[in-house]
Amino acid sequence: MSLATVAVLFEEWHETGGAPRGYVGGAWIDADSAERFDVTDPATGETIATVPRMGRAETCRAVRAAEEAWVSWRTRPARERAAILLDWRDCVLAAEDSLAELMVREQGKPLREAVTEIRYAASFLEWFAEEAKRAYGETIPGDAAQTRVTVQRQPIGVGAAITPWNFPAAMVTRKAGPALAAGCTLVLKPAEQTPLSAIALVALAEQAGVPAGVLNLVTGDAADAPEIGAELTENEDVRKVSFTGSTEVGRLLMRQAATTVKSLSLELGGNAPFIVFDDADLVAAVDGLVQCKYRNAGQTCISANRVLVARSVYDQFIALLTDRVRELNVGSGLDDATDVGPLIDRPALTKVIEHVADAERRGAKVVLGGQPHELGGTFFQPTIVRDVPATAQAFHEETFGPVAFLHPFDDEDEAIRLANDTPYGLAAYFYAQDVDRVWRVSEGLESGMVGINQPMLSTATAPFGGVKQSGLGREGSRHGLDDWLEMKYICQVIKPGST
Ligand code: NAD
Repeated sequence: MSLATVAVLFEEWHETGGAPRGYVGGAWIDADSAERFDVTDPATGETIATVPRMGRAETCRAVRAAEEAWVSWRTRPARERAAILLDWRDCVLAAEDSLAELMVREQGKPLREAVTEIRYAASFLEWFAEEAKRAYGETIPGDAAQTRVTVQRQPIGVGAAITPWNFPAAMVTRKAGPALAAGCTLVLKPAEQTPLSAIALVALAEQAGVPAGVLNLVTGDAADAPEIGAELTENEDVRKVSFTGSTEVGRLLMRQAATTVKSLSLELGGNAPFIVFDDADLVAAVDGLVQCKYRNAGQTCISANRVLVARSVYDQFIALLTDRVRELNVGSGLDDATDVGPLIDRPALTKVIEHVADAERRGAKVVLGGQPHELGGTFFQPTIVRDVPATAQAFHEETFGPVAFLHPFDDEDEAIRLANDTPYGLAAYFYAQDVDRVWRVSEGLESGMVGINQPMLSTATAPFGGVKQSGLGREGSRHGLDDWLEMKYICQVIKPGST
């Protein structure tokens, strides 16, 4: 399959009733069983394509293809690998509109957010293409006059990437970018809800000249994922697994990866606090919360889940927030006016309903929304819930929906204590102006990332990742490249010269 643009790819799938396939060793393949599963549009419930149901056997072949391709890929000069990745970036950007539309159809987010995600996805290809040219080693003074010690940074080998549905393109390139740039080869397993964006990206990688076997793709539905995951974690030829998804699956993969002692990166769930201090610019804080909370219908791992507001400005903040959130339009992501699209599926909707009901049972009050949207399906009203006790489910689990849960606090210590009272530690946000407070709070928060008067934390240039049960490792920045490189120390004794 060699396709000029994703629009052509998408049309072809439509015309043939859906024929996207997996990609192994440079060939587009079906499942051994020839079985397929449905990909649905969350806004309409309509089946938009079917995709192969693969399992252990196909995954094992994909690993073998990646292992065979690694030999020549790892020895290619970094500049050549970079040139291919930059071509891939160009192909992605040239197909931006079609990729974004495809993403909206399978994931539901508003089209303008999908376009932003495609550009964000492309930025990882560019960043790591450049960064890998500078994967410098070290020279260390030896212990003796004749010893020479150098440290090389070499590609780890065959990698596996397992990605979630909430950022169907960016999570692919955030892993494939550094892996390929570093000289690793990859087997990719996208989420069952959103395989089409991943397939389109791989088609564009092929078009850009990524050699056969360097990037492989296996697809499967929810029932196939454990088998594919078991092969990727237990196969000795896979040297590293990079996973983004739920903490529950991350824990399982960690146990499985122990059997072959592999390197593991885990980008897991979060439960971000968003703290508004009494010296904050309240209008800016409201703007920030609306972006941070309602983007992607609240389905981001760094979405604010617990909004902690200084008691002295609590009512004022809620009034301002309510005015803003009331203006948000709910609808299909393909409609230009839409701010909040559907949730990904029924279980997601059930969880959001349950978190709101649980908070109400514990005495919280719904200020706005609180119900499934009249559009039906998996749409939920943009919601504000106040006076949520710290014992509520939403304060301990990710909600993944368009609901702001608010709680007042009395002083800085209490705010930090509440913010840290969670097993997660991915992102945290706070709005304040006092310079001393800015240092105290940012240092006191237990999280991998802190946004100060800043609601958007994702960029290819900075290390993205969490502490506690939010995961291990970092993606983005030079640290994201390090995760795909192994250090090798080389020591040589040289003969002294005659002079
Ligand atoms: P999920 O864990 O259900 O699925 C993620 C991926 O794992 C999918 O590809 C899925 O098919 C696969 N999977 C499921 N069971 C598996 C198994 N037994 N073995 C191997 N693979 C398996 O998560 P999700 O619902 O798709 O994604 C939402 C979660 O991802 C949220 O918790 C969110 O916070 C998290 N997330 C984290 C980040 C981050 O960078 N920290 C980014 C995006 C999403």
